[in-house]
Amino acid sequence: MARVFNFSAGPAMLPEAVLRQAQEELLDWHGSGMCVAEMSHRGKEFMSIAEQAEADLRELLAVPENYRVLFLQGGASGQFAMVPMNLLRGGDRAAYLNTGSWSKKAIAEAKRFCAVEIAASTEDTRFTHAPTQIELNLSPEAAYVHYTPNETIEGVEFPCVPETGDRPLAADMSSTLLSRPIDVSRYGVIYAGAQKNLGPAGLTVVIVREDLIGRPLAGTPTMSDYKTHADTGSMYNTPPTYAWYLAGLVFQWLKRQGGLTAMATINERKAKLLYAAIDASGLYTNPVEPASRSWMNVPFTLADPTLDQRFLTEAKAAGLVALKGHRSVGGMRASIYNAMPEEGVRVLISFMQEFERRYG
Ligand SMILES: *Cc1c(COP(=O)(O)O)cnc(C)c1O
Repeated sequence: MARVFNFSAGPAMLPEAVLRQAQEELLDWHGSGMCVAEMSHRGKEFMSIAEQAEADLRELLAVPENYRVLFLQGGASGQFAMVPMNLLRGGDRAAYLNTGSWSKKAIAEAKRFCAVEIAASTEDTRFTHAPTQIELNLSPEAAYVHYTPNETIEGVEFPCVPETGDRPLAADMSSTLLSRPIDVSRYGVIYAGAQKNLGPAGLTVVIVREDLIGRPLAGTPTMSDYKTHADTGSMYNTPPTYAWYLAGLVFQWLKRQGGLTAMATINERKAKLLYAAIDASGLYTNPVEPASRSWMNVPFTLADPTLDQRFLTEAKAAGLVALKGHRSVGGMRASIYNAMPEEGVRVLISFMQEFERRYG
């Protein structure tokens, strides 16, 4: 069996140690005689798994007491609707930063519920930087401000957190949560689909400040009300138990790596290596302004796009897979989340250099 270096943007690579542990526990979790996927979500075995996962996530992110952590389904895309349903709280407008493909989707969904003010947009420069504080235009009427700290498709990451005064800040952290320490207290709500950096698909993590829970928009479905899940420990209905368990194993793995400060050091180093190799080459280009370059998703194009298919085919033969860029931007994209070892990045760089030597 040969494992490949998988650069997929999501579902993405998981730490091998986590997969091995899951394999070991697959038929009989801790003497229960059951797979976690076969357990009652309300039984004491699964409850202990669920509680441990939440405790570990809280520890990793230093989540303050007045925040609730929810383990939901529906993906980040489901949160595009749940955020306005829960955060408008009587208001009729919200402010959004338009910084890439995922922001655009969040904006389109929010428009079903309220007026959307675009507090900043980088669309006219083709989403190649994260706006700075002075580029933001925030009106006092916005019930909340939404942004996408890491744009997975364009590879643009905010180097700092926007200042929004009293307005709660909502953040789609799908592709950056757990890649580095964050100050949770700066946010009203943080959400992430798990399949990028947290675990397998099917689980959506929401971290929400308590005072924002409990005033949903009229007509909000029970399942879309944060209060439903906050009041029931995310067990109002059957949660995604196996995904929750696997995410819990990832959280424990992260703690063993030294937590998020250690991950940030590793992630920054991996990204710097790859960007340096791209910038030093005559064949590869990344269009993003250096200060806004993502540590997690590194898009790049080849000077001669007719080489794209050859690049992908030869990369795959070298055990480097899922490098094809998103269909909307073309070229290549290397997603290098927590689970991608530095070795994978080094092998990719060597491959790119060798490819350039032969065809560049
Ligand atoms: C992948 C991604 C999404 C979509 O997530 P789903 O869980 O598939 O709904 C949304 N936002 C960002 C930033 C993403 O990377």
